[in-house]
Amino acid sequence: MGWIFFKSKYEKMKLVDREDLERDPVVRFQHSHYIPLALFLGFVLPAIIGSTWGDAKGAFVWAGLVARLAVWHCTFLVNSLAHWDGLQPYSDEDTSRGSLILAILTCGEGSHNFHHAFPHDFRSGPSLVSWDPSKWVILLLHRLGLVTGLRSAREEDLKEALEYMKHKALHGVPPLDQEEANEQAIEWTIDDAIDYVLQSNGRCLVSIAGWAVDITRYLGEHPGGSTLLRSYSLQVEPVGRKYEWKDATWAFEGGLNNHSRAAIKRMKEFRLAKLTTAL
Ligand SMILES: [Zn+2]
Repeated sequence: MGWIFFKSKYEKMKLVDREDLERDPVVRFQHSHYIPLALFLGFVLPAIIGSTWGDAKGAFVWAGLVARLAVWHCTFLVNSLAHWDGLQPYSDEDTSRGSLILAILTCGEGSHNFHHAFPHDFRSGPSLVSWDPSKWVILLLHRLGLVTGLRSAREEDLKEALEYMKHKALHGVPPLDQEEANEQAIEWTIDDAIDYVLQSNGRCLVSIAGWAVDITRYLGEHPGGSTLLRSYSLQVEPVGRKYEWKDATWAFEGGLNNHSRAAIKRMKEFRLAKLTTAL
């Protein structure tokens, strides 16, 4: 847990769209009063509550100090144990693993392998019965209207990921990628791409590894926000057809973020044409 004592430089952080957080008055209040809030709720409040039955000191020690120690250690286990020992049913692209012990200790973070494979999913354990009380609380808040816009991975993607990993465990190699083999794509010049954007009323077209990819439908789903995606889209001025198009290959293929196998598969579904002009 040494890493928490170092202030890391997150250079990519400024690229993350955090407009939703900045709009939220509760998050803003918490952010600007973080230290007094943490000290009050973590240590002072337990003592005040304990004083109502005459044991402020006992409450401070157990509900303040000991509870903090236990909660921190359980939280940090997600970064150590959940990347060291356990099962990898969804993906082996990183070191994340699932473990029931951790699920019990952290109220659901046990399916950590799932979280890394499908980071935009609000659940940690995707099945309704997997031990994930956090998910049940979110679902309850959703019922009460306090939580909106829950996102979860598509059922077919979960199934595909499970089958992929099963195949790998059984045969030692990943299943053959069929779609790559019979790829018969149409070809576009830059002019075709410009026509497409002009005629489709400014759809969000990005260029990844020599492909024109229309990600308009995915804008609201992208875990990193839509602003980032739009910054890589083809911008055209209707008069004079002057255009600006920053290639997104580097950003997509690990420059900005490591996209999971599921994310790469999803991106391929949005491909429209092979680009004959290099950007
Ligand atoms: Zn992790």
